[in-house]
Amino acid sequence: QEALDKGLEKTKEGFFSKITKAVAGKSTVDDDVLDNLEEVLVTSDVGVATTLKIIDRIQARVARDKYLSTTELNGLLRNEIQQLLAENNSNDFRNFEYGDHKPYVIMVVGVNGVGKTTTIGKLAHQLKNAGLKVVLGAADTFRAAAVDQIKLWGERVGVRVVAQAMGSDPASVAFDTIQSAVAANEDVVIIDTAGRLHNKVGLMNELSKIKNVMNRIVPGAPHEILLVLDGSTGQNAFEQCKQFTEATDVNALAITKLDGTAKGGVVIGISDQFKIPVKYIGVGEKMTDLQLFDKKAFVDSLFK
Ligand code: GDP
Repeated sequence: QEALDKGLEKTKEGFFSKITKAVAGKSTVDDDVLDNLEEVLVTSDVGVATTLKIIDRIQARVARDKYLSTTELNGLLRNEIQQLLAENNSNDFRNFEYGDHKPYVIMVVGVNGVGKTTTIGKLAHQLKNAGLKVVLGAADTFRAAAVDQIKLWGERVGVRVVAQAMGSDPASVAFDTIQSAVAANEDVVIIDTAGRLHNKVGLMNELSKIKNVMNRIVPGAPHEILLVLDGSTGQNAFEQCKQFTEATDVNALAITKLDGTAKGGVVIGISDQFKIPVKYIGVGEKMTDLQLFDKKAFVDSLFK
């Protein structure tokens, strides 16, 4: 919780200083206050659709009770956000057992620069600490740097990395990785992929080719398609989420870099709009700065 509080500090500060301004000089929640609140939520990157949902609910409450004091607004907002996150099953992963599948195969997708490699490294570290045998597959073969970085994380964390020459077929890297994981009786396979969005059909084909290969060795694989989004990019993160969910069956999200930004509201908007569980959040650059997303702890931290 402490690391989370620290990671969300900027979002929290931005959020509350804006809300304080939004209600300045007002004792009751009126149309002006609601307009201001709408702007606060939109500029905190909650997203327009989700913001309107929240405002509508608060407006309904005002209409029902005839009177809502501005001092009650924080509490109400907190409840509404909690409610929105609860409607999305974001905590499905809480009690997830990796042992359900062996090996458990994770395919990691996302555009370059969002923190994909770092997230893979952090995740490998966590899983290894949990006593699991982890192997990484460097299937982003389009950038030499990507392969080198995965290797570096492998060394740092102490897990095996499967890589081929730059430019080789990503599906072939995935194949080698999974096959060797099966042979070595390893528990979790994490495959990095290239994050090229410029051509959706190309992306779709590439990802489905990798998936097919995985499935040939381990039926049902990949068990998890983890999309990594940079939380500090606001609306770009929404757009990327849209593109990737159209290109492949993303079933988990990791939202990174929440520590460096006041745009943490993106977690709320993306959960609400895409209904895909946010599984992890990144709150720093260190190996230990990846957390399983806990919606209650998240809201608690925002409203502390
Ligand atoms: P990739 O191109 O998507 O693989 O991105 P990288 O993993 O190389 O990360 C890009 C930069 O973002 C690096 O400098 C990372 O240290 C940084 N980064 C990744 N995750 C986080 C995070 O949660 N918080 C912060 N502050 N930086 C992060």
